[in-house]
This record gives sequence, C-alpha cells and structure tokens, in this order.
Amino acid sequence: GLPLAEADPEVHAALGQELARQRGTLEMIASENFAPLSVIQAQGSVLTNKYAEGYPGRRYYGGCEHVDVIERLAIDRVKALFGAEYANVQPHSGAQANSAVLAALLDPGDTFLGLDLAHGGHLTHGMRLTFSGRYFKAVPYHVRADDHLVDLQEVERLAIQHRPKLIIAGWSAYPRQLDFAEFRRIADEVGAYLMVDMAHFAGLVAAGLHPSPVPHAHVVTSTTHKTLGGPRGGVVLAPKELGKMLNSSVFPGLQGGPLEHVIAAKAVAFKLAGEPAFRERQERTLAGARILADRLLAEDNVGVVSGGTDVHLVLVDLRNSELDGKQAEDRLHRVGITVNRNAVPFDPRPPMVSSGVRIGTPALAARGFGDEDFAEVSDVIALALRPSISEARLDALAARVTKLAERHPLYPELTA
Ligand code: PLP
Repeated sequence: GLPLAEADPEVHAALGQELARQRGTLEMIASENFAPLSVIQAQGSVLTNKYAEGYPGRRYYGGCEHVDVIERLAIDRVKALFGAEYANVQPHSGAQANSAVLAALLDPGDTFLGLDLAHGGHLTHGMRLTFSGRYFKAVPYHVRADDHLVDLQEVERLAIQHRPKLIIAGWSAYPRQLDFAEFRRIADEVGAYLMVDMAHFAGLVAAGLHPSPVPHAHVVTSTTHKTLGGPRGGVVLAPKELGKMLNSSVFPGLQGGPLEHVIAAKAVAFKLAGEPAFRERQERTLAGARILADRLLAEDNVGVVSGGTDVHLVLVDLRNSELDGKQAEDRLHRVGITVNRNAVPFDPRPPMVSSGVRIGTPALAARGFGDEDFAEVSDVIALALRPSISEARLDALAARVTKLAERHPLYPELTA
C-alpha cells in the first residue's frame, strides 16, 4: 500500500501539525507525557492486525504464539515492577480497568465510596453520568476545607453509615499522597474491598518515589500513559485469588479482542520503568512540581491547593484572582503552555469556568527539563497569571517558552 502521506494527505498533514505543536509548545497537562520512540514503534506495528480473544495460552483464535510471548512479557514485567501477584494488561483504558473492577466486585445497586469529582476524584469514581454512577450507588467523600487533604474521618463515618462493598482511593487532581493503610483499616472495619486507582502516580510508585498501594489494596488499577509514560491504556493488579474473577470481567465481561499492539507498547514501557533513567526522570518530575508550587506561592493573587505538592502536579487556586480557570488556561495557551482548567475544592465558579488550573511536570521531565528549566517555566507561568498584563509582555513570555522548547528538542528522529 501507499505510505500515509500519499494514502491520506489530510490525516498526514494534521499529524504533522500535531507533532509541530508538541515540539513547539510546553505540555503541562498533568495526565500527559511523551511516550518514548520504542513505545510508539511497538504501538504502530503489525500487531494491530491480530485477534487474540482470551489470555496467553488460552485463546479463541489461532496464530497467537507470538502475541502470547508479548502479553506474557507485559504481565510478568508489570507484576515485577509493582510487586503484584496478578496482572491484567488488556483494559483498553483506565476507565475500562475501573469498570472491570466495579463489575467484578459489585452487583448493580451496590454502594461504594469514591472521592468527589469536584474535590479531585475521577469520573469513574462515581460521577452520575458514568457506568460507575449509573449502575451503583456512589457515595462521595471530600477533602477538608481548611487544609484540602482527604477527610479520612468523613470516609470512616460514611463507611459506617453506608456499609459500602467497595472503597475507591485515588484521584485525578490532588497534590498530596493518600494514606493507603488507613483506607484499608476503614475498609476492613466495614468489610469492604479497597481499590486504589493509581493512574496518576503509578510512575512515581514504579520509581520508588511514592508509597505503593499494592500491599494495602485488594485491587489496584492504573492507566499506563500518565506518569508511567507508556501507551494509552489500562492495567489491573491484584492478589492471585481475585485473578479469575477479574480476568473474566475484562474479557468477555467488558471487552472483545485485546489491543496487542498496545500491549506490546505496555510491555516496553514496563521494562523502561524499571531502569535507573526512569527513576531519575521521576525525580526531576517531582522537583519540577515543587519548584512551580514555590514560585506560585510567592505571588499575591494566586494560591496553591494544600499549600504545595508531593506529586507531579500543582493545583493553582484562583478563587481570589480576577482571572478564572478558563481565562488562566487561555492565558497560558497564549504564551505556548498547555494546561487544563480544573475545579478547586469548594469552587464558587461553575465547572466549565472553574477557579483553578492543574499543572503537571511529567511531560517536560520526559523532554529533559531540569531544575533550571522548571524555574524558568514557573516564572513564565507566575507572570502570565498576573491579572493585567500587556500583549507586549505576553509576547515576551511566549518568546521565553519558545526558547525552552528549543533547548529540549522533542522526537528529533521523527519527520511527521
Ligand atoms: N483514573 C484516574 C485517576 C484518572 O485520572 C483517569 C484519567 O483521566 C482515568 C482513571 C481514566 O483513564 P482513561 O482516560 O485512560 O480512561
């Protein structure tokens, strides 16, 4: 067949533009990262052609001898990386992984606890329009108003009151570490399962820079594309006893054929995540987030949720700023920095506007950013978020962003 440029010039052109965008701007969406070339190669491979319903050694299709090798590598590597007895690497995404666990452990109508979306939880932790909120009774817990930390006393109170079958610990927008042992104690007190969704901080756990939920939780889910830096996808970890139930919940419960090209890319990412260079990158990720939090705390008009960060992201609090979250997101976009607006706890503004931005450092760390670069981009962000700023000054900030992007070339091997 023809190469992409000839077969489909429109898609090829947009892809080229996207590569240019990723190269020329600074990606600070906390859930994003830059997958290494080896991961992209595995994903963009002939493995996309293969049907492999079932699991390694027990497939419903012929010709699976090589994809079996690949899927076993992915399973063995992720088990070793996180010290888990069982792994399922087939979930197409993090949402699929969470849905598979809910479907396996709960019956429709059962109750579970999850962190409120408006306080940093994920959609699949009980938001009413999702599978998790429609088919189960989701009871939200919250962060405290004074220090913005998860209120474990409320979790215990709600657990005793509602007798949930499952408690979900995990977050999409929360700048601190959770106390997994305490979550487990509460779960045990009421006979609930504990599921930890480590989608955001899995890379930090892999690097040994964040406590592991694996010894505490009955089930751990994750995405593979956030701090972990692999292809878009999901994974489920658990003790051996739950393996059979979880396997059948993923396939045939919720999915058909696994994406073996993505599973190959996951295998590569799990290998890389065990190497010293990965740990060094996660250290720069954490240092960058701390540098950003400190720089923003020096500003009068913005706050930092919880007063800092222990992870790869900072939640900027704009409740006392003339700028709302949408305006801040647009302002940063104007100077070449990509972030997403985000509600802060107890946000007075509606979600589409919001009073916060979530800013993450994993993608820039993958690009090679060190302390000095993070200090420079933090200064640009702090200045760009001042309430009134001239177009000329914004142009000057955009020039500083371009310089930083040029200092750390992205995917030099790729042409388009
Ligand atoms: N869980 C958490 C904590 C997340 O932040 C996300 C991503 O937004 C997901 C699950 C869902 O992952 P995906 O977008 O791959 O479905």
